[in-house]
Amino acid sequence: MRIIPSPPDNSTTSLPDRRQTGPFNKGGQSKTRPIGRGIIKGGEWGFSDKNLQGSFQEKKLHFFKMESGGYMALAGIDMKTTPGEYTLTIIYNNKKIFEKNIKILPASFGLQRLTLPKEKVDLSPEILNRVGIEQARLAELWTVINEKLWNGRFIMPVNGSITSAFGVRRIINKEEKSPHSGIDIKADEGTPIAAPNNGRTALIDDQFFGGKTLVLDHGYGIYSIFHHLSKITVSEGQLVKRGEIIGNTGATGRATGPNLHWGIRLQGERINPVSIVNLEME
Ligand SMILES: [Zn+2]
Repeated sequence: MRIIPSPPDNSTTSLPDRRQTGPFNKGGQSKTRPIGRGIIKGGEWGFSDKNLQGSFQEKKLHFFKMESGGYMALAGIDMKTTPGEYTLTIIYNNKKIFEKNIKILPASFGLQRLTLPKEKVDLSPEILNRVGIEQARLAELWTVINEKLWNGRFIMPVNGSITSAFGVRRIINKEEKSPHSGIDIKADEGTPIAAPNNGRTALIDDQFFGGKTLVLDHGYGIYSIFHHLSKITVSEGQLVKRGEIIGNTGATGRATGPNLHWGIRLQGERINPVSIVNLEME
């Protein structure tokens, strides 16, 4: 049996994020990565995803069978995770077969200062109430379906430069607000948006901050969130294929200009979408 929660001696387990971002640090390495995948190969033991269990950061790992053999589970580390040591445990037939402490190091995401019209920042109680309802509607979505809808690697939904990186702390009109939970990709108004991978449309909404909003469920707790769209061309519950056009970019909601905000949730953890594009997926 091989358990490979992290590299470096095996080519099948590169855990990318070549960018700075969230930390999934393996002892002694300076590279950080906000998403990790572990592969277990143990066909001779008669493994199945039923008798394989595990947890990381007290969250259950969800194993699924890989076409190339073995089982894989994905774990993400939220950008606001408190640095420290977290235990990764793998259980087979109710017996602990693997345990490792993963050190999460502090990461620096940078700082961005923005000036926005006062009425878009100093919100009335009615608007605050609306924002709360919209955020709760999103938070309810992050459940894990034991179904793998994605197939192969994730792709960027539009081509363009990243104008606001993942995790940056934001000072808006001199006041610190929530850090950036996704990436903003520069795109002209009306640019077609491609589904980064296969998925099911989980939510269509019109939000105060996010404007026209679309959420795709890719399975096993992976969700894509898109904000500021001018148009959504799919309906709720619809299955989409990677590369299929799901809408068009815009500047709806609180946007400084046309761009696509793309966020990824992995079992509720906010991770850098660039890291999932860089990750070798089955
Ligand atoms: Zn954004």
